[in-house]
Amino acid sequence: MSDNSLRLVWIYPDLLSTYGDQGNALVVERRARQRGLDVQRLDVRSDQPIPTSGDIYLIGGGEDRPQRLAAERLLRDGGLSRAASNGAILFSVCAGYQILGHEFINDQGTQQQGLGLLDVVSTRGEAERCVGDVLADIDPQLNLPPLTGFENHQGVTHLGPTARPFAKVRFGNGNGVGDGFEGAWQDTVFGTYMHGPVMARNPHIADLLLKLALDVNALPPADDRWYEALRQERIAAATETA
Ligand code: GLN
Repeated sequence: MSDNSLRLVWIYPDLLSTYGDQGNALVVERRARQRGLDVQRLDVRSDQPIPTSGDIYLIGGGEDRPQRLAAERLLRDGGLSRAASNGAILFSVCAGYQILGHEFINDQGTQQQGLGLLDVVSTRGEAERCVGDVLADIDPQLNLPPLTGFENHQGVTHLGPTARPFAKVRFGNGNGVGDGFEGAWQDTVFGTYMHGPVMARNPHIADLLLKLALDVNALPPADDRWYEALRQERIAAATETA
């Protein structure tokens, strides 16, 4: 991060905003401003180049066809991969998560290359689509409270040896391969199946990204009351429907 300004990049709102994940950008932006940071938010459409100078990049979920187009364009553009190799922080949801992996099955039923920034491979699940509230315990290394989110995906994701599971599910499917894991992370690249938007339900994840960007261990406290009320409501919903 240069001076006191955080550069936040929201990738391809024209293709990957179907599931409301743009809320993640709002929450990260707000939590940063509450800590006195100046935020430059850049929404990059799929016909524009991805800047390489961002601090935090967010990418959301989408339907199968927009997912294919987004992966093709990101691969051709190369900017997100360059940003990641410069140490930028990437947080991806669902279709975005699959795109950051090595490959996934696209809307035409063929294997499509991803960016390979996460050591994961996605295929299409044979079982019913995974839909519903999820409650999971986040990797203890990340020191975060339980993860609450909403999943809606057909794809299932297998982790390779370099990726760590982001969380272990208590209720719900997560990666959907039967090992109980949800999402993946390695270094500063994160992937999850959780919508919600996930940052609105888990503002501590937004804070984690900010701490990584600022290279600090702690942030001044923020008012979490509204987030906490939402968390409690959704955690109750996940446990009731289980
Ligand atoms: N199209 C992908 C799937 O069904 C991703 C869906 C999503 O982003 N919610 O697996």
